[in-house]
Amino acid sequence: MAIKPKTKYEKDAKIDINKINTNIKSIDCNKISSKNNNIVKPIDKNIIDSIYLKGFTIAQYGLYLKKAKPYKTFKIPVDAGFSCPNKDGTLDTKGCIFCPKMGRPISVKYCNVKYTLKEQIEKQIEKQKNKGIEKFYIYFYPGTNTHGTPERLKELWDFALSYPDVIGLSIGTRPDCLEDEKLDILEDYVNEGYEIWIDLGIQSMHQRTLDFLNRRHNVSDTIKAINNCKKRNIFVCGHVILGLPNETWDDMIKTAQILSDLEIDALKIYPLVVIQNTELEELYWRGEYKTLDEKQYVKLVCDFLEHLSPYVLIQRLSKDKTPDEIKVSPEWNLHRLKILNEVSNELKRRNTKQGVYYKYKY
Ligand code: SF4
Repeated sequence: MAIKPKTKYEKDAKIDINKINTNIKSIDCNKISSKNNNIVKPIDKNIIDSIYLKGFTIAQYGLYLKKAKPYKTFKIPVDAGFSCPNKDGTLDTKGCIFCPKMGRPISVKYCNVKYTLKEQIEKQIEKQKNKGIEKFYIYFYPGTNTHGTPERLKELWDFALSYPDVIGLSIGTRPDCLEDEKLDILEDYVNEGYEIWIDLGIQSMHQRTLDFLNRRHNVSDTIKAINNCKKRNIFVCGHVILGLPNETWDDMIKTAQILSDLEIDALKIYPLVVIQNTELEELYWRGEYKTLDEKQYVKLVCDFLEHLSPYVLIQRLSKDKTPDEIKVSPEWNLHRLKILNEVSNELKRRNTKQGVYYKYKY
């Protein structure tokens, strides 16, 4: 059994989300552009085909964007101070077993509740514009970003879209927090020409896994959320974890098949990372859970991609934003470009690519 070191993370102050100042009262939300004439189009399969024709083995979202947009884009992460129903007592107070009990483990300087939402957006837009980026998505990231009243959510979303160079939103949330009333607001933005993405915490399409993780929602919530978004032309990027406790290879491949059949637009695929101050950390130090090593993870990602639809865009293959000082395991370098290269090379070595073993349901 491994020996547990002293944790630095426990020094972290608990955030009081009620004290977060988003400073948006002074903004005239009527300034949101209603002259946005762009029509939001579905993911263009011809562009994805052209990516494979150039010899790439993965439908990389970055390559897709370069071909689909006449300008450079960047996703600005912001922390609007949302809690989570699985932590604030609405459903539970414990949270998912891999989610830190306190603090917000992110490493982007201005994505932080100590800045107002206005400051977070403007500081980051300014920085990215200096690098030649022209258009932006605002990514509501930590916590469950639809866990609020529709009025409050609309106020935040209107504010984010009031910047002329902002072309859309990405909203990180849970499958059971996407009520029709909230999706209707987002659909209105789509109809105005904004590109709206839901970053959906899926993790697995197996109920016993979700129960073990203490997700406190059902697989049926995930299916409903994806279908409800798709019928409103809201894009869905699912977050999936490989190497979850008690999941077999077949379970993970089945998750790839189900999400492909649901025609999910994009995925972020992550290894399970043990972070300080989580229940998973306790399992880890008791020797009841072991993270994948780098070779195992790369192989598993390749297997997963081979069984996924070739038309699911891949936004990420790693979780490299976790600060090292709170990461317990794995010890290997999670840098996303490094992992992307390793997965691409392994697929080339196998002479396969994303989607080769996907069985179309039609
Ligand atoms: S749903 Fe997300 S924010 Fe909530 S406890 Fe789970 S991982 Fe944490």
